[in-house]
Amino acid sequence: MNDLLYGTRNKRGDWKPKDAMRPAPVFVWPPRPLAILQWLPHYLLPWNALFFGLALLIWSFLTPSIETLRTLAPGWILYLLVRNSAVVLLVYGALELRLYVRRAQGNQFKYNAKWPTDNRSDVFWFKHQNIDNVIRTFAVGLPIWTAYEAFVLWVFANGWAHWVSFADHPIWLACLAFFLPMIHELHFYCIHRLIHWPPLYRAVHSVHHNSANPSPWSSLSMHPVEHLLYWSGTLLHLVIPSHPLLAIYHLQISGVGAVVGHIGFDRIAVGKDTTLDAHTYAHYLHHKYFEVNYADGLMPFDRLFGTWHDGTEAADDRMNARLKARARRLTARAKA
Ligand SMILES: [Zn+2]
Ligand SMILES: [Zn+2]
Repeated sequence: MNDLLYGTRNKRGDWKPKDAMRPAPVFVWPPRPLAILQWLPHYLLPWNALFFGLALLIWSFLTPSIETLRTLAPGWILYLLVRNSAVVLLVYGALELRLYVRRAQGNQFKYNAKWPTDNRSDVFWFKHQNIDNVIRTFAVGLPIWTAYEAFVLWVFANGWAHWVSFADHPIWLACLAFFLPMIHELHFYCIHRLIHWPPLYRAVHSVHHNSANPSPWSSLSMHPVEHLLYWSGTLLHLVIPSHPLLAIYHLQISGVGAVVGHIGFDRIAVGKDTTLDAHTYAHYLHHKYFEVNYADGLMPFDRLFGTWHDGTEAADDRMNARLKARARRLTARAKA
């Protein structure tokens, strides 16, 4: 496997893809039906299919009965916390173990030549990125994720949401399932822009950005306020006709799905000559440059508002020109 067939490596050893990142060909005018058909497999595979499969498994076999869910009780809520923690440990842990502990593919396809474990800094608890990230994931992120899940399931179980069945409304539920990753990205874009407002950035979102060179454990390493906002998208299922399975799918897209974007490798080797596109570069660039790619290219807002970075030098130039223009505006305002 030669990663230089796909990209280039600079003097520091940082690797980047050769081709510009292409945003999803949806929300473009004129419509491009053929491009959408070619893009669909990338939309579904591997990640969204994996998250839906996980949700199906969890709803079918690993969720307490409706009778149990009707009454809030510490026992089953604690069970959800343990079950969600186990899923995160398995998925994040497998990626971390393979790519960062065993370093099974070395620096091949790795954006940043440095390893997070070498990054000792006062910004992290115990001065260690991984320890800080793991504590924030399990002690803060997972309890808040579980609290949202318990609340949503409790409301469904008591008949206070508009629970529709797959038998009665298959097209509506299939469409909702199909569009959920886009709905998640729309919600994420909105809260993400909000927490990049300087006062909220300093108080809240800077915790997540401390991991400028992210690894899977950075995915849910957030301030509690960011977690409260991040998981709130799931409340959608309490106001539109939906199904608990789709609420769980939404939580999986947000929870396990957060790892997409924080893998730090463009491709994961799955065989001697086979690699899997990790779909991770857009958010890596957000961690690197902070003020680009507030979403991941699925929704059109970064392109509309000039913050889309496709990884090319031309995009670097556009970003630098934008930041310089803003600095000039701020200086002029301070002088006025
Ligand atoms: Zn991130
Ligand atoms: Zn951010």
